[in-house]
Amino acid sequence: MATDSIASTLVFEPIPAGELDEIRAAGVDEAGNRLTPQPDPGGGNPLRCCLRETRPGEQVLLIAYAPPGTAGAYAERGPVFVHAEPCGGYATPHRYPPGLSHRQQVVRAYDQDGQIADGILAGDGEQALAVIQQLLARPDVALVHLRNVGYGCYNFTVRPG
Ligand SMILES: [Zn+2]
Repeated sequence: MATDSIASTLVFEPIPAGELDEIRAAGVDEAGNRLTPQPDPGGGNPLRCCLRETRPGEQVLLIAYAPPGTAGAYAERGPVFVHAEPCGGYATPHRYPPGLSHRQQVVRAYDQDGQIADGILAGDGEQALAVIQQLLARPDVALVHLRNVGYGCYNFTVRPG
């Protein structure tokens, strides 16, 4: 598909495995909250370590995390689910995450100084990919975040390849 060849120039970034290793080893998140492994009974929550949804009963951590590429008043810290134990990470960094592509997303663009540049609602992964390409083609956009529609929680980052 044409969209795949265009998408191959992009990099879809989960929370880096090295950062998660440090957080798990420390036993606290970057906000100082103690880590509490817990099952996710219903499943269906986006995992920021491997960019798919939880399966019912999977062990997760809910951690506070500040995503990359923001600065000043736009630097935000928010809640994200990650696997309680190290997982395989995200295996296809040049593809829009297939396990999240059915979800609506807000695509938030940030400039080189970490200030917000735009925010666009996308109905699914295919629409989001088109929005990502359009935003990253702008000279004032350095990277984009994909975020949940209702709560605004961070899912992943996309940068030019
Ligand atoms: Zn994972």
